[in-house]
Amino acid sequence: MKEFELIEHLIPLLPGNKETVVGPGDDCSVLDVGMPGKLLLFKTDAVVEGVHFTKDDGWVRIGRKAISRALSDMAAMAGEPLSALVTLGLPSDFDFEKVREIYQGIRERAALFNVSVSGGETVRSTQGIFLSISMVGWVPQGRLLLRKNMRPADALFVTGELGGSRSGKHLDFIPRIEHAKWLADRFEIHALMDVSDGLAGDLQRLIEASGLGVELLSEAIPVSKEAKQAARQSGTSALSRALSDGEDFELLFTVPASVAVKLLDAWKERFPGLRLSCIGKVVPEKKIRILSRSGRLTNLDCHGYDHFQ
Ligand SMILES: [Mg+2]
Repeated sequence: MKEFELIEHLIPLLPGNKETVVGPGDDCSVLDVGMPGKLLLFKTDAVVEGVHFTKDDGWVRIGRKAISRALSDMAAMAGEPLSALVTLGLPSDFDFEKVREIYQGIRERAALFNVSVSGGETVRSTQGIFLSISMVGWVPQGRLLLRKNMRPADALFVTGELGGSRSGKHLDFIPRIEHAKWLADRFEIHALMDVSDGLAGDLQRLIEASGLGVELLSEAIPVSKEAKQAARQSGTSALSRALSDGEDFELLFTVPASVAVKLLDAWKERFPGLRLSCIGKVVPEKKIRILSRSGRLTNLDCHGYDHFQ
């Protein structure tokens, strides 16, 4: 069973209540707990030794990655993160120095965004180390930038560069919290998410949520130099690496096409060090198609990262 199939089977089993404004299916769940003018964001995420990291990655970086993934999902809602709980699974012969380093990584990133770690849990693990991070944050009431909100003829944007994350970015990335808030404060963002499982896979989620499709311009997709390098080494194409490597932790969003140029100009001024690319548009037909340099339009058949493959 693939990950998305498992999730599809699980969703009908999950209870809801009237306080749950957005349940499963977006980057965070959204709860109305009666805070005036605010909605609560709620998220959990886990990293597992041998799947998301190896012991050679360095424990500070592993801690950093674990909390940054949850922060990236807060960014994907243009949210303000508040506090985290950390569950740490350790083999019985654990070395305290490693644990101290993991928490050092967590502290560094938490401090960057004024997030507290307000508790947690340690458990014994029979195989390797794992870290699970739950996080709460908030968004202003009425500002829900959900995946399902994209609209036909929207322009589709992505921040940064894609692919090749395994050469280091997947451990060291800085979640796009500030960028997302800036965007949401100034522009009419329709849909927003973070690119965690590869652009192709995450676009699939966007079209599933909205019932619409996207048309990409192959030349506009920002391919990282690490993706180009990985492509040379593995004999694959750099574009396919950018589409499917995963763990980019960039922002993917749509805006009305009429504001695209203004947005690009304002972005360049505010964030000169981070690329922003308009990579295509939203179309009514529920498909992902890609327009090649030669003008040929083909269905995108390469998939993002699946955790169960
Ligand atoms: Mg996400």
